[in-house]
Amino acid sequence: MKKDSIIVCGTGIAGLACGLGLARAGMSVSLLGPHSAPPVLEADTYHPRVYAISATSRSLLDELGAWRLMDMRRITAVEAMEIYGDGQGALDLQAWHDTQDTLAWIVESGEIERALQQAVRVFGVPWFEEAFASLDSAAHGVRVTTSGGRVMQANLLVGADGARSQVREASGIHHDYTPYGDMGVVAHLDVEIPHQGKALQWFTGDSVLALLPMPDTADGPQVSMVWSLPEGRAREFLAQESGAQQTFLAAHILATTGARLGRVRLRSTPAGFPLTLQRTNMVAPGVALVGDAAHRVHPLAGQGLNLGLGDVRALLDVLAAREPFRHPGDARVLARYRRARAEPVLAMSLVTDGLHRLFATQCAPVVWARNEGMRVVDRVPFLKRRLIRAAAGQ
Ligand SMILES: Cc1cc2nc3c(=O)[nH]c(=O)nc-3n(C[C@H](O)[C@H](O)[C@H](O)COP(=O)(O)OP(=O)(O)OC[C@H]3O[C@@H](n4cnc5c(N)ncnc54)[C@H](O)[C@@H]3O)c2cc1C
Repeated sequence: MKKDSIIVCGTGIAGLACGLGLARAGMSVSLLGPHSAPPVLEADTYHPRVYAISATSRSLLDELGAWRLMDMRRITAVEAMEIYGDGQGALDLQAWHDTQDTLAWIVESGEIERALQQAVRVFGVPWFEEAFASLDSAAHGVRVTTSGGRVMQANLLVGADGARSQVREASGIHHDYTPYGDMGVVAHLDVEIPHQGKALQWFTGDSVLALLPMPDTADGPQVSMVWSLPEGRAREFLAQESGAQQTFLAAHILATTGARLGRVRLRSTPAGFPLTLQRTNMVAPGVALVGDAAHRVHPLAGQGLNLGLGDVRALLDVLAAREPFRHPGDARVLARYRRARAEPVLAMSLVTDGLHRLFATQCAPVVWARNEGMRVVDRVPFLKRRLIRAAAGQ
């Protein structure tokens, strides 16, 4: 086994960022997972998944050399956010309230993956296009067997293999899993009124509708929708043929938003993702989890991937600061990583879960209090600054 050797299992955004960061820090790292190059899309065509990337995540992608590899014409800066409750509650957050230019950036998942894959290639990180199959302990680390029968040894195995992580399963890391019974339905929409770099969100009792600013197209202004709603209703909507989806969505969004962006038209085929709350202990002997393998939160705050990139940042920092006599999978080093992530992950889980519960109840005093709460926050600059900093990941 090479000194300071690490295997990163999972080649989504968290795994790629982790592998790249470790390679840049001079560690002997290999990637294990599928290699599917995101398709290069023509102008006016966009990958179906987009993420609101926080300032902290952007800094990490910048440091990894990936941000500058992205096509800036496809990225939209969010300069303001309007949030509406299901009564008179409303909150208006502007980046300048905290003397910033931007609250977040809306970036396509395929664009981040493409840039990270390119940087990984430049750094010559070995990439084994096989799946993780099993795990054994070895002297000073772990032994991994792949789906192709390859046996690999390393001091540390990073599980970045997503929500159904087999690394988590094989290493026996404790895992709490609570389905919300909701789905997140995503699609890109043409709208009539320019979004002006604003992200808009409506809490409507049992559902949350977010419209995120995207680049204009030849057809006019465009937004990306993230609509969280009870799973039964979501599946009913997704099962309809496209004409019926279009008619339903156009009427629903017009009514929910009070025609805030005028009439809307579907640009892409809607896709649905079941939503769950997941928490884990993050580490086991010789193993650390990052990204959705480690936790999942409700997308209402658009923070799941940001949390995963926060894991990557913390793991890179903890490994860089370790004593020279400790290898990357040393129990003390992993305990430091777990401690570093405990508070941010718990805080984000509580905030997103708390907001989901707060808006899911129809009890009249709670409905009044949540809307009044938004109005109060809207009038207190200090609280607004706190919210802006939380969105930026600070
Ligand atoms: C509707 C919705 C909207 C969202 N919006 C936002 C947002 O605006 N901002 C934000 O920050 N987050 C958002 N999220 C969260 C975000 O989608 C996830 O947190 C993020 O995609 C997780 O990335 P990951 O790399 O950890 O996992 P994944 O993207 O799941 O990647 C896991 C990788 O592991 C590989 N893999 C799996 N099994 C194996 C195996 N056995 N061996 C090897 N490889 C394996 C997979 O092929 C994949 O490449 C949203 C989520 C939803 C559902």
